[in-house]
Amino acid sequence: ATPTALLVGTGRGAQLGILIKGPEVLETTRRVDTVVLDKTGTVTTGAMALRGVHTAADATEEQVLRLAGAVEHASEHPVARAVAKAAGDALPPVEGFENVPGLGVQGVVDGHAVVVGRVRLLEDWSLKLPDDLAEAMRRAEAEGSTAVAVAWDGAVRGVLVVGDTVKPSSAEAVRRLRGLGLRPVLLTGDNRAAAEAVAAEVGIPAEDVIAEVLPEEKVDAVKRLQAEGRSVAMVGDGVNDAAALAQADLGLAMGTGTDAAIEAGDLTLVRGDLLVAADAIRLARKTLGTIK
Ligand code: ADP
Ligand code: MG
Repeated sequence: ATPTALLVGTGRGAQLGILIKGPEVLETTRRVDTVVLDKTGTVTTGAMALRGVHTAADATEEQVLRLAGAVEHASEHPVARAVAKAAGDALPPVEGFENVPGLGVQGVVDGHAVVVGRVRLLEDWSLKLPDDLAEAMRRAEAEGSTAVAVAWDGAVRGVLVVGDTVKPSSAEAVRRLRGLGLRPVLLTGDNRAAAEAVAAEVGIPAEDVIAEVLPEEKVDAVKRLQAEGRSVAMVGDGVNDAAALAQADLGLAMGTGTDAAIEAGDLTLVRGDLLVAADAIRLARKTLGTIK
């Protein structure tokens, strides 16, 4: 395409709510055949809410929420926001707060050493879930929720269930991406059951779901698809997605997401609407004359 056509393409992009880093990006956009979608905040709203609290025999719901809420108050993660919000305003301070990316958080509250997160994080502390809490967690996940365990002073004492909703336009966006000949893949650090429930809702088969990946493994997932000979676009919003956005042949950042994602992406979808991802690919092909 001529430089003029490319500039017209980028101008049209701005009208559609797509910010393009440079005209050369359109060329890459045209070639992609696989589109990796981050789950939380990209396919879903990312606005999680508390759905339930389960406690061990020696703990109350109030205690679980208060201690977990105090630690989560220091985190920006969607799970953390849901828990802190449900716990209310009058929370005790946390000391020695630590965020373990993709796994959870820990800190000292009211003299108790508190850990909130995935079973994998608790196992690092040699903490095991009592059977009834493990069962509550399994049930919540099977229903598509995200469940995190809460432990303090050496024992797991609660499970918090949070959940998210799929954005209204996500299923249509997946349909349009497929219509453009692209293969959508769902990628998430969340549990497999929740990931598959979201995937089913938007029309992605379980075999195209990559779940329970740590933030640093998201980039490996993109590399593996590239090693299969695929040309990969990645759509994401989180700090966790930045490396994968940079690794992808084409990185599309949600404009509603973090600065790290926007900096790593080649394109920004200003309104954070997945439908616009399909528009971006269609625009690139049109600008470069491959479709009419
Ligand atoms: P995603 O890929 O969906 O954005 P993340 O990699 O950020 O997910 O997180 C993966 C999982 O790690 C979450 O589903 C949750 O179980 C756990 N996790 C991450 N951060 C926190 C937190 N602040 N509190 C509790 N659990 C967390
Ligand atoms: Mg996300």
